[in-house]
Amino acid sequence: MDIMYKSTRSDAAKITASQAILKGLSPDGGLFVPEKIPALDKSLAQLAEMSYQETAYEVMKLYLTDFAEEELKGCIQSAYDEKFDTKLIAPIRKAGGAYYLELFHGATIAFKDMALSILPHLMTTSAKKNGVKNEIVILTATSGDTGKAALAGFADVPGTRICVFYPKGGVSAVQEKQMVTQTGDNTHVIGIHGNFDDAQTGVKNIFGDKELAAKMDAAGFQFSSANSINIGRLVPQIVYYVYAYGQLLKQGEIAEGEKINVCVPTGNFGNILAAYYAKLMGLPIGKLLCASNENKVLYDFFGTGVYDRNREFILTSSPSMDILISSNLERLIYRATGEDQAACASLMRSLSENGKYEVTDEMKKALADFCGLTASEAECFAKIRSLYETEGYVIDTHTAVAAASLDKYVKATGDQTKTVIASTASPYKFCRAVMTAIDDANADKEDFALIDDMERISGVVIPPAIEQIRTAPVRHNTQCDKTEMKQAVCQWLGV
Ligand SMILES: *Cc1c(COP(=O)(O)O)cnc(C)c1O
Repeated sequence: MDIMYKSTRSDAAKITASQAILKGLSPDGGLFVPEKIPALDKSLAQLAEMSYQETAYEVMKLYLTDFAEEELKGCIQSAYDEKFDTKLIAPIRKAGGAYYLELFHGATIAFKDMALSILPHLMTTSAKKNGVKNEIVILTATSGDTGKAALAGFADVPGTRICVFYPKGGVSAVQEKQMVTQTGDNTHVIGIHGNFDDAQTGVKNIFGDKELAAKMDAAGFQFSSANSINIGRLVPQIVYYVYAYGQLLKQGEIAEGEKINVCVPTGNFGNILAAYYAKLMGLPIGKLLCASNENKVLYDFFGTGVYDRNREFILTSSPSMDILISSNLERLIYRATGEDQAACASLMRSLSENGKYEVTDEMKKALADFCGLTASEAECFAKIRSLYETEGYVIDTHTAVAAASLDKYVKATGDQTKTVIASTASPYKFCRAVMTAIDDANADKEDFALIDDMERISGVVIPPAIEQIRTAPVRHNTQCDKTEMKQAVCQWLGV
């Protein structure tokens, strides 16, 4: 059966998966959602025997129904190859009573690689299928990790260009160095004077600018997005939850059909939404534990039904989660309204005009699968240290938000359900914060001295992504104000 995609905000015409991937965002400002969530058509026992690539095909074929089998398999083979440092692609490590699903074994050592290593292939295949002649210009706002993963994915891909906006001063030193050293003639990186929400809003405004779109078209360009608002990002993220369940079953850690919880360190709500879609497809998932850092808008939302971004933006040591407007929550809100586009549009209008909205009691019931959690900086640092001391396992600062939150949840509820924690970044990417958590005395050391120390204490070899930036020259040093993003794009493209 063909699955078509529609907007969360209006009854505009339905489009195919490949068209939704090309567009990124709906012209009405809404996000594309599948008109129905497909059910898994393989048994859990069958899935347990599959490789990552085979699992990817079984999940993605159900959503990208206008892709031919060989097209989709081609995309999967090109994405999940030696760019990953393990054949398992996403291995599971049991530690401290939880299962850490390591999603950071790709080229840029954060979970964004899971989707961004396949998105360029999905995008160019979609362009071919739809007879697109224009060059595709990817605009991406990043809180630190998406930017590098998207740059690496799209660098020198024919028929595409990519521009990344990151908050200058709002990302880790390693994250910034990774981006500004990016090679590839079609890449562009801009540090904006503003935070991630400003970058994301700026990009959304550029997408919504009809006059600019016409000018672009005349010059042979069209925009698309590599942010997790693109369905081509969301669908590949469902895969690893299905794969994780299969692996746990295969290893005898769980019985067939046994429910597991998942705990996800959350920012833009893309990763945990993918887990929710996996649950709706029939994967036995109990609770979806949504862990926030000190920017705990989502924790407050799940607790009270009020989403309120009117608060101080806090810079934490988990910068990829320093977000007050979680874009993908709109897809959950849409579902909770009973797929009522007008109701969803009205809540989102309230968010953009007043910075807040409140859901009805009826909608709250539809959110009951989720539980909002939060952990402070001190709690995260304590967790990193204790896990290292008891298990010799070193986790990154984002994963620590989930792990520390989970400890509090288990203590408060007594819920003993086995839990998969989405481990979203290599600790090398946030080396300074992690090493300081383990020992305060590390605060005074140089970045690369700390990296060498981390290798010694963790026993994990320094990944190539880190070795590369030791010596790589800076290639990008453009900066602009948050109000000048459109001009910066036009200047870069010469339109
Ligand atoms: C992007 C990111 C997150 C947040 O993921 P969302 O899908 O935006 O909720 C968490 N941790 C790391 C390391 C990330 O890069």
